[in-house]
Amino acid sequence: VAEQEISFFFPTECTLAVIKPDTSEELREEILVEVGAAGFTISEQKEMVFSREMAEEFYKQLTDKPFFNQLLDYMCRGPCTMLILSKENAVEEWRTMMGPADPSKAKETAPGSLRARFAKDILENIVHGSSSSQHAQEKIQLIFREISSESQVISTGNDDEPNP
Ligand code: UDP
Repeated sequence: VAEQEISFFFPTECTLAVIKPDTSEELREEILVEVGAAGFTISEQKEMVFSREMAEEFYKQLTDKPFFNQLLDYMCRGPCTMLILSKENAVEEWRTMMGPADPSKAKETAPGSLRARFAKDILENIVHGSSSSQHAQEKIQLIFREISSESQVISTGNDDEPNP
């Protein structure tokens, strides 16, 4: 069956997922395995360090929050893994897989979620996911299509691909 016919019956949606800085290589790999096992397709993937300017733009909806500066410090601290995930209902399903921002709440309400199992605290909570399809389109545009020269791209593509 042609891919177009499949997507007619099961329309795919895209979301932007981020594995945040300070995540060990081992945990990063574990998250990628779980993403695949949950039925997401990784349409695009790259490692990138946020510039301050780009992190500000990325989180512009949170400018007024008291934790905004700490959040920028954290997000700019080291490489992030940026992912475009595709699946039917991808936005909501990735949010469910992440769990709530606060890991103590996540442990109560979503014990199997990534944040319940792996987040350090409400700030350093290892993963990001767009909260709506609209936001996903905007952030994918920002991260994958108009990369600022100040944000350093470390690698693109899938590390797991064997060398030719
Ligand atoms: N955050 C924080 N303190 C808070 C709420 C959020 O440090 O009280 C951080 C945390 O890293 C979170 C990010 O800000 O993931 C964005 O917050 P949001 O409320 O949008 O949560 P999310 O969409 O990431 O679940």
